[in-house]
Amino acid sequence: MTTQRRLILASLDALDTHPTAEELHAIAVQQDPSLNLSTVYRTLRWLEQEGLVSTRRFDEPRRQDRFDPMLPSQHHHFICKSCKNVIEFDLPALGDIQQDFEHLHQVRIESASVVFYGLCTACNRQNGPVESEAERELSQRT
Ligand SMILES: [Zn+2]
Ligand SMILES: [Zn+2]
Repeated sequence: MTTQRRLILASLDALDTHPTAEELHAIAVQQDPSLNLSTVYRTLRWLEQEGLVSTRRFDEPRRQDRFDPMLPSQHHHFICKSCKNVIEFDLPALGDIQQDFEHLHQVRIESASVVFYGLCTACNRQNGPVESEAERELSQRT
């Protein structure tokens, strides 16, 4: 692995936010100013092919690939819709659900990914329900 590849992987490991390529580049370039965004893209795709990182697409206004240093089979995600905080968790009960499903439909499940969307503890306390951009505008006008 080249130095830049190592730096990109290390930066990804250090972040627990499942960054986009742009976000990761913004962090890694502080260590190596010569690093450019296309190198970050290329490296992430390579790491993905090698099975060292996985790509995630969460339900967010701007659909984009987010990179995850852990493999899909190992964990699931909770996403805070307000601050984009990600909580990773294990879901042992999912094994039973998968077995039931396999039995019922006579299929074999190879992987599963559960994503919960909501508000994290801090946002839940602060904001109450999340307002959409339109609702916020409306309440400011009235
Ligand atoms: Zn993850
Ligand atoms: Zn939050």
